[in-house]
Amino acid sequence: VKRRERSVAEYVEGVLSNDRTILAQAITLVESNAAKHMEMAQQILNALLPHVGKSIRIGITGVPGAGKSTFIEAFGKFLCENGHRVAVLAVDPSSSITGGSILGDKTRMENLSRDPRAFIRPSPSGGTLGGVHRKTRETMLLCEAAGYDVILIETVGVGQSEFVVRSMVDFFMLLALTGAGDELQGMKKGIMELTDAVVINKADGDNKPKALAAKEEYNQFLHYLRPATPGWETKAYTCSALLGEGIPEIWQVVEQFVETTKKSGVFEMRRRNQLKDWIYSMIKDYLETSFFSHPQIKEKLPIIENNVISGTLSVTKAVQELLQIYENKKASE
Ligand code: GDP
Repeated sequence: VKRRERSVAEYVEGVLSNDRTILAQAITLVESNAAKHMEMAQQILNALLPHVGKSIRIGITGVPGAGKSTFIEAFGKFLCENGHRVAVLAVDPSSSITGGSILGDKTRMENLSRDPRAFIRPSPSGGTLGGVHRKTRETMLLCEAAGYDVILIETVGVGQSEFVVRSMVDFFMLLALTGAGDELQGMKKGIMELTDAVVINKADGDNKPKALAAKEEYNQFLHYLRPATPGWETKAYTCSALLGEGIPEIWQVVEQFVETTKKSGVFEMRRRNQLKDWIYSMIKDYLETSFFSHPQIKEKLPIIENNVISGTLSVTKAVQELLQIYENKKASE
């Protein structure tokens, strides 16, 4: 049986009263690429705008196996028990590239997902990372309007996804393991420069002394990096997501971060800059998609590319020709 379609007003009311079924359906609309759904989703979002922005947005990254889902389950449970409402979202870098999933669609965070104070939404599938970016951001806004006051956004630290998540959160943490030395080399430095806290997980049993040593190593390293957030010193901490040890302390760090950055104005400034960046990245995304999906560009691009490679056409001239084709088509539309 085809469900009767809800009106915009019904969606708005349902989200504001935290009707979880309606919230989930509103997110499905936001995630849809169909023009009709997109139009409706934008009407809903516009009506909800006065109710968004009142949460603390936290990004969590780490390699597969670092313990992200175990940590989020323990952290989320702790927050729920302390009067918060927690929404968990994911940005899965693989879904846009391979169609598969690194974060996994297996039932994760089973305990937390049964808690009525928590809302877990898996990664939106399909589309470019830019498309996933929009969907995750808008899903976050819907969750805020529904009254979730802590938003956790999980991603695997590969490729561009951690930059995308950094661009939509207030606080960004790296979940790390012992053996800091290996991680500190190479690409990890890039992630370190985005982080407000390095949390060394699995600090339990035989692993505890190693975790504490890793904490020192990280702290020494972090000391020489420019902090991700002006006026905030990024430090390393340890915890055991499995045993729940160190979890309240991590929340204290987040609270302190929020207090410090709100006082200094950095919190609001970052949010404003994120909104501006969002506008520009959406424009770039739109233009890029529109350009490369243009039939005449698709036809001419390989030919022009060949001319450049064979040395009969300069790159600048080639690009000018392509843009000419694109703009002429636009004008004749
Ligand atoms: P993810 O891939 O980053 O989401 O990692 P998972 O949360 O799935 O954890 C990977 C493995 O590490 C699982 O077998 C967990 O039980 C284990 N694990 C996670 N956190 C801890 C911890 O604090 N201590 C110990 N000993 N094991 C942990």
